[in-house]
Amino acid sequence: MVFDSTAHSDHEQVSYFTDPETGLQAIVAIHDTTLGPSLGGTRMLDYASEDAALEDVLRLSHAMTYKAAAADLPLGGGKAVILGDPDDLSSEALFEAYGRAVDCLAGRYITSVDVNSGVEDMDVVARETDHVVGTSDGLGDPSPITAHGVFHGIRACAESVYGTRSMDGRDVVIQGLGKVGRSLAEELLADGASVTVTDVDTEAVDAFAEEYDVETIDPEAVYSQSCDVFAPCAVGGVVNDETIPQLDCDIVAGGANNILAERRHAAVLREQDILYAPDYVINGAGLITVAKEYLGGTREEAYEEAAALGDRLLEMIELADERDTTVLDAADAYAENRIEGGERMPTIPT
Ligand code: NAD
Repeated sequence: MVFDSTAHSDHEQVSYFTDPETGLQAIVAIHDTTLGPSLGGTRMLDYASEDAALEDVLRLSHAMTYKAAAADLPLGGGKAVILGDPDDLSSEALFEAYGRAVDCLAGRYITSVDVNSGVEDMDVVARETDHVVGTSDGLGDPSPITAHGVFHGIRACAESVYGTRSMDGRDVVIQGLGKVGRSLAEELLADGASVTVTDVDTEAVDAFAEEYDVETIDPEAVYSQSCDVFAPCAVGGVVNDETIPQLDCDIVAGGANNILAERRHAAVLREQDILYAPDYVINGAGLITVAKEYLGGTREEAYEEAAALGDRLLEMIELADERDTTVLDAADAYAENRIEGGERMPTIPT
């Protein structure tokens, strides 16, 4: 039954861990370690069923392989889920037990923060294993570095569409003024762009508009706002059948994960002559930062590698033009090419 399942037939390893004393039930999915050990966060959720948890962890670990490969990192893709309501279950003892589980994978999987697991939890995990990043001893908040990568990705898109990377005089609409959106707005303003911001948190928008020379807009009006670049930096699924007909922009490029409701929307955008920068490429600097933490390196180096995302994205845009396909297809091809050229990790590292 297990080996026949097509759900995880493309994964190298799926491990289940339990610890009755703490109530830990975790699944670690290692999708691919061709390019290096798998890295991905630990999501803690009260899943509707074990199948739902398995489906989530398999999908997320698969995505991490592509994200790491597209970021030119020597890492593979993995992810973990802890099943249960964080309010009922989360405890130091549980994260210690989880740390022991991660440790027994001997470095084939490196864990980090994700939904409902934070820096404090990773500090606890680190008591039991070295294979963890995102601790308080680490390189700090990756968000400004993520934004730096998004900024350079937007500039690469501008070069493709307008023939110049300069954002001077370009209109950019940023959806979501959180950790990534704010830093992105600052970088774009410094490069001469006209920036319009929105957030469901209207106080945050007002405070930002007092400090910076930006326009503001209601969250519902964001899709139909005429602009050069629409930069989603809030939640996923915002580019969908309902919003695409409203879009009045040349470029969709932002930091949010899973911007497209469905993969086919990349082709729909292309048909409408809108350049879409694949989210997993353009927001890859968050992963670059935590990878630096594991592999050794500085925040400054992470900033440099984040900036290099722009050139890589431009390469993918050119490949898409050559192949008459979407940039998402080209990005996948770029990642797959790297993986095919690599060698699978032959043994468990010690
Ligand atoms: P955040 O929680 O700091 O900010 C998100 C902001 O979006 C909040 O201010 C929230 O009020 C706002 N928001 C939520 N729904 C909205 C809506 N419908 N319209 C307008 N605003 C809305 O998160 P963040 O760290 O800035 O991350 C933003 C996105 O980027 C997320 O999708 C995240 O998964 C992704 N991402 C972040 C990083 C990182 O380093 N932080 C790395 C990769 C990807």
